[in-house]
Amino acid sequence: MKVTPMSNPSNDETKSGFVAVLGAPNAGKSTFINRVVGTKVSIVSPKVQTTRTRVLGIMMVDESQLIFIDTPGIFEPRRRLDRAMVAAAWSGAADADMVVLLVDCKRGFDHDTRNIVENLSKQQRRAALVLNKVDLVKKPELLALAAALNEAGSFTDTYMISALNGDGVDDLISDLAGALPPGPWMFPSDQVSDMPARLLAAEITREQIYLQLRQELPYSTTVETESWEERPDGSVAINQVIYVERDSQKGIVLGKGGAQIKSIGAKARSELEEILEQKVHVMLFVKVREKWSDDPERYRDWGLDFSA
Ligand code: GDP
Ligand code: MG
Repeated sequence: MKVTPMSNPSNDETKSGFVAVLGAPNAGKSTFINRVVGTKVSIVSPKVQTTRTRVLGIMMVDESQLIFIDTPGIFEPRRRLDRAMVAAAWSGAADADMVVLLVDCKRGFDHDTRNIVENLSKQQRRAALVLNKVDLVKKPELLALAAALNEAGSFTDTYMISALNGDGVDDLISDLAGALPPGPWMFPSDQVSDMPARLLAAEITREQIYLQLRQELPYSTTVETESWEERPDGSVAINQVIYVERDSQKGIVLGKGGAQIKSIGAKARSELEEILEQKVHVMLFVKVREKWSDDPERYRDWGLDFSA
């Protein structure tokens, strides 16, 4: 990862480094990173493969800067977009100082997780094992899962957390911070992500599409911020286009009398107001763009490799 270290607040005390968070789709990677960063930098939904790009979540622990790399889930890819997402996840791991493997302990040691463990072994990469969602599972089950995973792979340590309610997270963070290499911070200490505001705003709308629309439709959509206007009254006016792949999908996004798109816009607006801490106006449009998922330019926007 090419990030130029900041010249200043380097002293003997500062530490900094990248921690890649890997795991099967839905393990809770984005939830974990939002929690430690303290604000939403990565969108979350109950649907798999919500995260499409590599997202950084930056956190300060005293003089240490932990830079988490949220990755798309690792699973068996079928479509081009899937392949690019999985490639982005592994390259995130290759660039990182440390790797955390997040496992949904409710799902257990499933096929996707097994693949990741095998790949980590092949690359001789030792990760910290983190069993997430402990709020959903009983202790004996947890211990059995921890044993099975440690049998299959070689981990630096095993942690049990709930990214949702924060249980166990502090211990994990203080160990990670302690293991960081000494060095200057890579980002200003108040920065929480490297994502441009326009892209984050598009992600927030995409999150609402995942939460509000049914089944497969969200996977056929993408969102772009077309304009961003700071107004004299301190508010910001954001225009976005929701792209769908087929004409028939347009009606679903709009809903009866425009009710659906109105509801997506209203929720996105209130989320953004909280994140940006200013008044926000959101205008949404729907357009058809056939085969956007085969368009190299989209991949560039997301920092994905089109030919992965
Ligand atoms: P990702 O695909 O790994 O980034 O997973 P997400 O962060 O998008 O989370 C997937 C789903 O799991 C969401 O519905 C989260 O609310 C839920 N989730 C994440 N962490 C926890 C947890 O610790 N406990 C419970 N009960 N649910 C969680
Ligand atoms: Mg995610």
